[in-house]
Amino acid sequence: MSKLTTGTFSIEDLESVQITINNIVGAAKEAAEEKAKELVKAGPTLFPGLESYRDDWNFKLLDRYEPVITPMCDQCCYCTYGPCDLSGNKRGACGIDMKGHNGREFFLRVITGTACHAAHGRHLLDHLIEKFGEDLPLNLGQSNVLTPNITISTGLSPKNLGEIKPAMEYVEEELTQLLATVHAGQESAEIDYDSKALFSGSLDHVGMEISDVVQVAAYDFPRADPDAPLIEIGMGTIDKSKPFLCVIGHNVGGVTYMMDYMEAHDLTEKMEIAGLCCTAIDLTRYKEADRRPPYAKVIGSMSKELKVIRSGMPDVIVVDEQCVRGDILPEAQKLMIPVIASNPKIMFGLPNRTDADVNETIEELKSGKIPGCVMLDYDKLGELCIRLTMEMAPIRDASGITAIPTDEELANWVAKCADCGACLIACPEELDIPEAMGFAKQGDYSYLEELHDPCIGCRRCEQVCKKEIPILNLIEKVTQKQIAEEKGFMRAGRGQVSDAEIRAEGLNLVMGTTPGIIAIIGCPNYAEGTKDVYYIAEEFLKRNFIVVTTGCGAMDIGMFKDEDGKTLYERYPGGFQCGGLVNIGSCVSNAHITGAAEKVAAIFAQRTLEGNLAEIADYVLNRVGACGLAWGAFSQKASSIGTGCNILGIPAVLGPHSSKYRRALIAKTYEEDKWKVYDARNGQEMAIPPAPEFLLTTAETWQEAIPMMAKACIRPSDNSMGRAIKLTHWMELHKKYLGGTVPEDWWKFVRNEADLPLANREALLKKLEAERGWEIDWKKKKIISGPKIKFDVSAQPTNLKRLCKEA
Ligand code: SF4
Ligand code: SF4
Ligand code: SF4
Repeated sequence: MSKLTTGTFSIEDLESVQITINNIVGAAKEAAEEKAKELVKAGPTLFPGLESYRDDWNFKLLDRYEPVITPMCDQCCYCTYGPCDLSGNKRGACGIDMKGHNGREFFLRVITGTACHAAHGRHLLDHLIEKFGEDLPLNLGQSNVLTPNITISTGLSPKNLGEIKPAMEYVEEELTQLLATVHAGQESAEIDYDSKALFSGSLDHVGMEISDVVQVAAYDFPRADPDAPLIEIGMGTIDKSKPFLCVIGHNVGGVTYMMDYMEAHDLTEKMEIAGLCCTAIDLTRYKEADRRPPYAKVIGSMSKELKVIRSGMPDVIVVDEQCVRGDILPEAQKLMIPVIASNPKIMFGLPNRTDADVNETIEELKSGKIPGCVMLDYDKLGELCIRLTMEMAPIRDASGITAIPTDEELANWVAKCADCGACLIACPEELDIPEAMGFAKQGDYSYLEELHDPCIGCRRCEQVCKKEIPILNLIEKVTQKQIAEEKGFMRAGRGQVSDAEIRAEGLNLVMGTTPGIIAIIGCPNYAEGTKDVYYIAEEFLKRNFIVVTTGCGAMDIGMFKDEDGKTLYERYPGGFQCGGLVNIGSCVSNAHITGAAEKVAAIFAQRTLEGNLAEIADYVLNRVGACGLAWGAFSQKASSIGTGCNILGIPAVLGPHSSKYRRALIAKTYEEDKWKVYDARNGQEMAIPPAPEFLLTTAETWQEAIPMMAKACIRPSDNSMGRAIKLTHWMELHKKYLGGTVPEDWWKFVRNEADLPLANREALLKKLEAERGWEIDWKKKKIISGPKIKFDVSAQPTNLKRLCKEA
């Protein structure tokens, strides 16, 4: 039926004619929307290239947030001229200096991370279009702004799978240009590598957004659901009496076929399927849009990969891509666990059985004729993995095989330790294994037990032990009871933040009365153990920040319980609201965190998204209080995610290991010139407080990270009540965690007496008078003089001169 949009009509004989008014109204609305789209004034950077944000935005960011270079090694070995000694900022044979090379090294990590998410997105997009067709709508929940990151970069607002294709192609094209820039004799200026890295960060969030929106739409993941179901998490949740299929990686495509096969054959109660890393999060989102009772489980983060294999629990292991350990095959082989490689990115040198008969392949694997195989056909993969798991379990049970030593073996191994210290030197977490062995020799195993949580299960220690002690197995042996108790809950990944939630929180966030968005994301390379992220999340939840989380961070937050046996997911609501704990999803869902900040600008402040990254980022940097935390960042992807947050004006704190990324972005708070912006009302310069004082930095301890993050949520545009609330939290947290004193520079954020924390306003006025010489009217309890920055409710701070009305 053709749609009528304008004009009149008459029908002579109305009998038996049905007029559907809805269609006419709908058609008109569509036409209006088309028209509105044409009228939207896009920003200056549709489909940007490597240089597009450079002068207008990136260089402004990099002028304030200066790159701090911490080389990981003083050589470059990229080409056959080298290796070149770059120590003392010397130049290599090709002319690039140490700083430039380290900028390049950081850049290489960022584009590698960007490519990971983009390749993941491309794989899902092609597969899902083939399976469901191009017209499958992007049903993501109650939102009109569906794809803020895609829209910012491309101006497109895709409504179905097919319409995503141009955005995907764009990301791939730019990635080729970016990769070419790593070649010798390309860019040499550190600052320009940083600008290119920032650009890549913005692309990364486009690639992540593509990955997640297509899977949410096609696999019926929760759609911006604050009440997404609670998922069981932890090694202790696995029922050891059941066959156990263990999946490891990121790309859930193949796992959906396994789950479909389980459901079709009534096996969901008869076996366990559980995952490690992001695949675990995504498989527990599968078909959860209607909140059905979940049956799949989550084991945990990447740090658990080797530990779970060594436990001997899995009957079959399936790997897909990213953050998959390189020694899974030999480790699994020792314990008769077949390994199925389901993605061409990781094939482990295994024979390819993609075109073979499933029955024959199962026989080969069961008999141990082959230790595993490649299986890239999803239809076969589902059947193969499930049937193999059911059939392997009794075979493995009968063999009695396990890597966990007996009590006697444990004592014998411990007695062999020569206290040489080699393991301590090799351990990335610097765990004092020799000391723990010493106590174990005397029968005190508590020191070994304490190593379990901070140990990332990497087995570097075992490889240097001259006595060939299986150190990891000993740690796991003494922790058996503790592991059995590793049972928590994680709310299933809920997807994006809905427009309604943005409308409800937008004003509070911009005023500062909602003190900020705290985003706890990233990998598990913690320096002190997994509980840090729990403590951090709890502190901010108690203080009514909005806490969003993804990936391995979201898992570890759910691993601990309070004295009533409740996890944080049970204690706090799952909505994007003050005091809400929002598990957004797997690491590709990080795009919805930047997306939420972008939507505050788009929905609450009505800013144009299309081709308008700099303006949106400038808005976020000046007005939207937020701070990311990647406490155990280890991967290249973590660097691209963080860099994508940075270009959008969102600061991030990383754990101590992250100094190995080589480049931080930190401002000089004492240089007044760095803290000037324009007032868009008249184009005149105005001073802003030093907030946030970094875009990317590391903290040493979680106690240090907490006040740092609270402070990083202060924004120039906070209103008085908002500023007073943010100062209250920051000053209290500083006192609580950093030696009982108030921070030295708290007064820099006071514009008038209304900015002062309400509870001790008078005491603080006294301090300002006594320590800073500010003039106070004690009758009215007002500040007469002192602050360098005045509060102006209608000021429009911006770093972009082009947005200003000229005076
Ligand atoms: S790329 Fe340049 S610095 Fe690196 S090895 Fe080659 S010549 Fe030396
Ligand atoms: S396995 Fe654990 S103890 Fe051994 S080196 Fe790795 S982190 Fe350290
Ligand atoms: S390397 Fe082996 S022998 Fe040496 S201290 Fe460590 S556990 Fe003991």
